Amino acid sequence: MAETKCPKCGGTELGKGKQSGYAMMAPVKKMSFGSNIEYILCTECGYIIESYVTKPEKFKGNY
Ligand SMILES: [Zn+2]
Repeated sequence: MAETKCPKCGGTELGKGKQSGYAMMAPVKKMSFGSNIEYILCTECGYIIESYVTKPEKFKGNY
């Protein structure tokens, strides 16, 4: 992990979060199950440093 410090508050206690269920991101064109979203966030101030889908290949050809 490249970023180990919060750019907002300088906190070094980072955590990993996960969004699933109704909050999952789905491909626009396909009516298929999407991908969960994971976050790297600061446990001090709640700032989200990184967010990404766990299965990016599901979004190929969807632009
Ligand atoms: Zn912070």
